[in-house]
Amino acid sequence: MIDKVKKIWLDGEFVEWQEARVHALAYTLHYGLGAFEGIRAYKRSDGTTHVFRLREHIDRLFGSCKMCLITPNVSRERFLQACVETLRVNGMSEGYLRPLVYVGEGDMGIYAPNNPVHSLVAGWAWGAYLGDEALRKGIRTKISSFARHHINVGLVKAKLSGQYINSVLAKREAKLAGYDEAVMLDVNGYVSEGSGENIFVVRNGILHTPDLSCSILEGITRDSVLVIARELGIPVVETRLTRDQLWLADEVFFTGTAAEVTPVREVDDRAIGDGAVGPVTKRIQSRFFDITRGSDSSHSEWLTRV
Ligand code: PMP
Repeated sequence: MIDKVKKIWLDGEFVEWQEARVHALAYTLHYGLGAFEGIRAYKRSDGTTHVFRLREHIDRLFGSCKMCLITPNVSRERFLQACVETLRVNGMSEGYLRPLVYVGEGDMGIYAPNNPVHSLVAGWAWGAYLGDEALRKGIRTKISSFARHHINVGLVKAKLSGQYINSVLAKREAKLAGYDEAVMLDVNGYVSEGSGENIFVVRNGILHTPDLSCSILEGITRDSVLVIARELGIPVVETRLTRDQLWLADEVFFTGTAAEVTPVREVDDRAIGDGAVGPVTKRIQSRFFDITRGSDSSHSEWLTRV
C-alpha cells in the first residue's frame, strides 16, 4: 500500500487526502474513458528536487485527451503548476505524480458528451517499481498470452484508464506464473512492450526497440534512452522485433517512468546473454540515473526545479 500524503489537487484546489472523492456514477468509473500520466520527481545529489520531463508528460496527457475527445477543464500551464505544487504542499523531495483527467456523473449512456470533466494530481513516495534488486540484477519475464491492443482497436498512443485492463491482465498472468513482468506481443506476433514499459534489445552492440508505428506507448523514458544511447555512440535501430530476437539477444531492458531502466535477465525461461546485466544496459542505466538523480547537468532542459 502507498503511504498517504496530506493533500491531493482536485479541480484547481488542494483537498485533504480523504476528501478527494469521486461520485459513484462517474462516467470514467463505468466506461474507463479517462487520461492519466505517471511522472517522477527526483532528489538530485546536490539536494535539489526536479521533476523529470514534466512538460512532455503534460503534453502527452493533453494528446491523450485530444485523441479520445475529452476537453480538460484546466489549462496545460495550470496542470504543470499543479504537479510542482503537489510536491511542495506535501513536503515531498521526491516521488511519483499521477495527473488524471476524468469524466464525472450526468448522463449514463455511452455517448454522454456533456458530462463534466474533472482533473486531479496526486503524489506519493514510490521507490523502484520492480524492486531495487530488479534495477541491479534484472528481472524474469514471460511472453503474455494477452496481445497488446491492435492499433485500430484502442488508442495505443494514448494513456487511457480503460486500456490498462489489457496491462493488468498481462501483469497478473505473469506474476501468478512466478515471473516479474510480462512481455506483450501485438496481434501480428511482433514484440510490443511490457505491461507498463517499453522494451529494448541489444545485439552485437546495436540497440533495437519497436518503432513508433508499432503498438506501443510513445514512452518518455524510451525517448530519453534513445537520446542517451546516441550521445554514448551506441547505434540505435527502431524496428519491428520478433520473440526469437528477444531470446537471442545479448541484452534486454525495459524503460518507463515507474520502471526507469530495468534490465531483463530472462525471457520465457531462457537467460538473456549470460543472465547478468550487460555492459550497454549498465552504461545507459547509469547515465539515466546520473541525469535524474546524480549531478550530470547535460540535460537540464529535462528537469523542472521544484
Ligand atoms: N508503455 C506502457 C503501456 C506504459 O504504461 C508506460 C508507462 N507510462 C510506458 C510504456 C513507458 O512510458 P514512460 O516512459 O513515458 O513512462
